[in-house]
Amino acid sequence: MNTNFPAKKKLLETEIVKIEYLSDLMIKVWVEKPDEYNFKPGQYCTLGVDGIERAYSIASAPSEQLIELFIELVEEDEGGILTPVIWTMKKGDVFTMRPKAKGIFQIKDKTLDNYLLISTVTGVVPYVSFARSYLDNNDSDMKFHILQGSSYVDEFGYLEELNELSSIHKDNLQYVPTISRPEEYRNKSWKGSVGRVNTIVDKYVLDNNLKPDNTIVFACGNPDMIIDIQRNLEDKKGFQVIEERFWK
Ligand SMILES: Cc1cc2nc3c(=O)[nH]c(=O)nc-3n(C[C@H](O)[C@H](O)[C@H](O)COP(=O)(O)OP(=O)(O)OC[C@H]3O[C@@H](n4cnc5c(N)ncnc54)[C@H](O)[C@@H]3O)c2cc1C
Repeated sequence: MNTNFPAKKKLLETEIVKIEYLSDLMIKVWVEKPDEYNFKPGQYCTLGVDGIERAYSIASAPSEQLIELFIELVEEDEGGILTPVIWTMKKGDVFTMRPKAKGIFQIKDKTLDNYLLISTVTGVVPYVSFARSYLDNNDSDMKFHILQGSSYVDEFGYLEELNELSSIHKDNLQYVPTISRPEEYRNKSWKGSVGRVNTIVDKYVLDNNLKPDNTIVFACGNPDMIIDIQRNLEDKKGFQVIEERFWK
């Protein structure tokens, strides 16, 4: 019998420390960071319950004590499996966690002028980690342009934090949240940008003089948005686009 298979790495366990309910469909969850767990800004962790595992991007900076997640419910009648279970969980409950964070959705070259970071809803999570990790120690003067699309104002998740960071780091962060359903009552207080995020990007690129030779584009979240951004910014305009699709 061949006994030379590499030993399968044991799953870690991580306890829920806090849950914040933003709307019926959106929560933030903070879990413990196991002692031996490391990650880079932009990476994701793999959490599980009873053997059902899913990927979740990490909003925290690596220096933080907890792992912060921003999760959208996919209801059971829309095919959701783990998220309906997560919606029944509470502080003190435990996830399994794969021992290694994964993902190449990272800033590898910190010498560029502009990082155009486009997202839908929870797709903003890796950019929150970039902002928390890099803005205070921004030796190379990277400028982040975070664009986030959402249906409803209460789904942005990081509106206050990103607005505050952009007022502190005026030259290094611009945050543009945009609402796709401005006519709905739930958005009645909204005074900001309207339209899907992929429809506001051309004007943003022009207004901010973003060019393929001084800008790298990241696109994260809804796969239809990512395909549209690739066709527009990569195929037609020659930008390099790095992508992270949250589903197929
Ligand atoms: C690298 C990576 C990072 C991810 N990070 C996050 C994150 O930070 N926050 C987060 O909420 N999710 C994230 N996801 C999605 C997450 O892994 C799960 O797919 C999602 O939470 C749904 O899990 P589920 O088991 O309930 O449904 P699944 O069995 O995973 O999916 C059920 C169906 O819903 C679709 N689906 C999955 N997510 C969505 C969605 N948000 N909206 C509409 N349809 C969807 C799937 O394609 C599938 O058809 C990430 C996925 C990947 C690959």
